[in-house]
Amino acid sequence: MKTIRTVEQMMSKINTLRDKKIGFVPTMGYLHEGHLTLVDEARKENDIVVMSIFVNPLQFGPNEDFERYPRDEARDASLAEKHGVDLLFLPSADQMYPTDFSIKMKITSKTDVLCGRSRPGHFDGVITVLTKLFHIVQPTNAYFGLKDAQQFAVVQTLIEQLNFPIQLVGIPTVREDDGLAKSSRNVYLSVDERQEAISLYKGLLHGQKRIQDGIKDAKTIEKEVTSFIKKHTTAKIDYVEILTYPNLTRTETINEQIIIAVAAFYEKARLIDNLILEKDGTIVSRIGEGGN
Ligand code: AMP
Repeated sequence: MKTIRTVEQMMSKINTLRDKKIGFVPTMGYLHEGHLTLVDEARKENDIVVMSIFVNPLQFGPNEDFERYPRDEARDASLAEKHGVDLLFLPSADQMYPTDFSIKMKITSKTDVLCGRSRPGHFDGVITVLTKLFHIVQPTNAYFGLKDAQQFAVVQTLIEQLNFPIQLVGIPTVREDDGLAKSSRNVYLSVDERQEAISLYKGLLHGQKRIQDGIKDAKTIEKEVTSFIKKHTTAKIDYVEILTYPNLTRTETINEQIIIAVAAFYEKARLIDNLILEKDGTIVSRIGEGGN
């Protein structure tokens, strides 16, 4: 595995790989099995696997956890190498955003709901960094986790509307044994919070069961999931929402593919989780194929 820290070196390396199928896994590091599953999929479907680790300041709000976001470069590098990453891109903030950086990107669809509503500007930061990374890495296939389902939907729009010649692949959420979605932010949880946090997933499963029981009214299910979570954990709920997926529009009646999404605050961590479901409640797993 080769580690590269400058945009210039990365671009000249990619220039030598023009005939190769490049699989790209962008991350913010502090790697866990979720990230590594994306790498494993990319490894199967591409000649070259590129991972980036960059804690992108543009996607954090002023009162969010940018400064204290967990970082462990040495451990990440060793895990990436073990899983077959060929090129590890570790740019500094100065590399990505030199002082004369003067472009502002804004996405106006899919962002007035869920995390887009709670974290103003977050997805503008996401599309800005990804536009840069896509130009630098020029991947054939890009791998994202469906744990960040709104991000996946936003990236779909970015790729379509800015005509990136990239196949987008969405990988199902990797969970701890008890069901908690793996997240770099789980390290912020106290022991008690960690135990309670599975209620978010259990709440989502309750919602799925009610859809499978034949309930079609989105509001009814949102209410039931909310009260399930309130009953089982001290977390402060940010949202519980049912929307069509991937368009992320509101629907009164569940009669197409939907997402049930939750976000909740613990003392030091804001956690998110979701289920993407067919209208009959069947879980949607992988989205998209790694193409040529
Ligand atoms: P992050 O480092 O949190 O920005 O995540 C980098 C990529 O890993 C994103 O595409 C995430 O959706 C994905 N990811 C994070 N956690 C998980 C998980 N538990 N399962 C699957 N993918 C994940």
